[in-house]
Amino acid sequence: TPVLQPQRVCVLGATGSIGANALDIIARHPERFNISALSAHNNVEGMRALCVKFKPPVVVMRDEKAASALSAVLPASLPTQVVAGETALSTIASADETDTVIAGIVGAAGLPACLAAVKAGKRVLIANKEALVVAGEIIMQAARENGATVLPIDSEHNALFQCLPQTPRGQTDLVGVDRLTLTASGGPFRTRDPATLAAVTVAEAVAHPNWSMGRKISVDSATMMNKGLEVIEAARFFYMPPEQIDVLIHPQSIVHALVQYRDGSVLAQMGNPDMRTPIANALSWPERIESGVEPLDLASLSALEFSHPDPKRFPCLALAMHALAAGSAATAVLNAANEVAVAAFLEKALRFDQIPVIIESTLAAVSASRADSLGSLLAIDQNARRHASAAVARWRQ
Ligand code: NAD
Ligand code: MG
Repeated sequence: TPVLQPQRVCVLGATGSIGANALDIIARHPERFNISALSAHNNVEGMRALCVKFKPPVVVMRDEKAASALSAVLPASLPTQVVAGETALSTIASADETDTVIAGIVGAAGLPACLAAVKAGKRVLIANKEALVVAGEIIMQAARENGATVLPIDSEHNALFQCLPQTPRGQTDLVGVDRLTLTASGGPFRTRDPATLAAVTVAEAVAHPNWSMGRKISVDSATMMNKGLEVIEAARFFYMPPEQIDVLIHPQSIVHALVQYRDGSVLAQMGNPDMRTPIANALSWPERIESGVEPLDLASLSALEFSHPDPKRFPCLALAMHALAAGSAATAVLNAANEVAVAAFLEKALRFDQIPVIIESTLAAVSASRADSLGSLLAIDQNARRHASAAVARWRQ
């Protein structure tokens, strides 16, 4: 047997939900993985605990304040160098000391570091769906040009990846494929009376029935914008025309996605709703490793149900589909407006049922002629954030 060289892994967003799941798997396989770097925003206590456990050579915090707060509480015996700032994220993501990058930051804020990793030809495991929604074409083209292996860890996309033919570099092929289907649990409000959505509290919106996740994606799941972002993510990642991607509500979250082939075959990936399965798949691909996930016991499930989403109940899904049809500028606007609206909702500055209203008015207000470079997309993102923030402020008056 060949000697196994451990993969040197940089985890961006190490203190988040994806970060925790990734580090859980990494800790189970010390012979396979070493930590080369970690990042967090301002969770000093969370990062201190990770430093003690994983002894990373370098960590990045959001700013000097968070970095010095962390340095002050780290045991002097640790080898860890603490640095600050956004450009340091791109530095650790592209460093020679790193083989594999886990893009686990939430929001378009994670885009520059994700792209830096791809441009450096790394193996890049992408959870950060907003990066793909804003700049998926640029990321995928940079991957081809720089020989990066980009693997999806969003569960639906990892499921599609597993059901599609693959090249040895991890690229997928659409030969013979008719449709890609993403499943959605329907979130906490799948059966709630739509007339009561104005009264939804933050606690209700972040209480997902099947998955335990960060707050932003939990709200996205409640509005179904998460599935809208995922349809865009799938179109960009797999080069699939939007009209050949669809969504099915599947409340049990056991079937994560399906690929329908021309000959009538449908391949589906199943598993318990636990992010450690797609993360382990991507970390070890093309091999398979133990992930700690409970084995699936189909006989203990009463049923697997599937139905079409109700567009009236979930207007965010339709907004995302329209933006995808309109192109890259519109999807960047959609994402930015959604980030602003969800942040406002989490700060109790916006009602839940106003989230789609803010997004729709931002899509109508912001137009752009060019969306073909990272610079133009980031400019559109900033412009949309200004419009959406102003719309939130107007609504509050
Ligand atoms: P989270 O809120 O739990 O964690 C986010 C992480 O990013 C934290 O480590 C935080 O410190 C860091 N971060 C936040 N803002 C930042 C900024 N501006 N700059 C740098 N770092 C920042 O979020 P999560 O649930 O882990 O989700 C992360 C990403 O993965 C999101 O894009 C989400 O849509 C995607 N995703 C998550 C899950 C899940 O199960 N949690 C599943 C699929 C996809
Ligand atoms: Mg998902």
